Amino acid sequence: MAIASKIEWTESTWNPVTGCTKISSGCKNCYAERLAKRLQAMGQPNYAHGFDVAIHESAFDLPLRWKRPQRVFVNSMSDLFHRQVPDSCIQDIFQTMVRADWHVFQVLTKRSPRLTQIGPLLPWSDNIWMGVTIEDQDCISRLEDLRACEAKVRFLSLEPLLGPLPHIDLAGIDWVIVGGESGLSARPLQPGWVRQLRDRCLASGVPFFLSSGAVSTKRRMAVCLMEGRGTKCYAWLPPRLPVAEFLPLYYCLTAPPKPAILTPSGLQCQPV
Ligand code: SF4
Repeated sequence: MAIASKIEWTESTWNPVTGCTKISSGCKNCYAERLAKRLQAMGQPNYAHGFDVAIHESAFDLPLRWKRPQRVFVNSMSDLFHRQVPDSCIQDIFQTMVRADWHVFQVLTKRSPRLTQIGPLLPWSDNIWMGVTIEDQDCISRLEDLRACEAKVRFLSLEPLLGPLPHIDLAGIDWVIVGGESGLSARPLQPGWVRQLRDRCLASGVPFFLSSGAVSTKRRMAVCLMEGRGTKCYAWLPPRLPVAEFLPLYYCLTAPPKPAILTPSGLQCQPV
């Protein structure tokens, strides 16, 4: 059975690799590291070495056993392009994604130079979405690496957003996720940074998805998600970011994403 995820832009997680090392400022309060240590303390065998990089070959073909089509976040507990993951493992994991073509796989990395290096050797079937995380201007070069990748859907995770990205060029990008940090040590997100990104998405015609951590865990934004064959909408109205300002930019997570619409009962996805 797939592991259901609380991350709003996906449905399940698949972790053929676990563990990682910090690479940029977005890693400071890494959620995966905290969770790995908890799972280690609980005796979970995949986390026997805590957050050290570990490859779990027994998990390589798991998605082939999941019959229900779903969006699968690949390696929520690691970074698939970490230097300790051999090329052959990355290729095997991609082969599973190609074979499990009833799912959509969302691969996200902060190690875009490795993506550039190995990308031409990987089979980019239509169901493999590739994304990079950009948390501030210091790592904007990841965007060029993503643009050079042959994936059919390329997305940006601007989460946790730690600074403004006023000049970000969204050419060749299919989807943008924006969010803040959560947890007790969360670094603040400025509404002005979100507005700038919203406006750049609007100007470029790129779907914009504001995740619930956008302001804080207590003041959530409205999001509308595809769940199975239906939709489920959540509408939290943070006091400083009126939801109406963002409404035209909520998209349902179909492939490609479809705009959400406002109805008397709240946000709804358009029929698929
Ligand atoms: S790249 Fe991701 S998983 Fe790895 S340390 Fe940074 S935030 Fe954590």
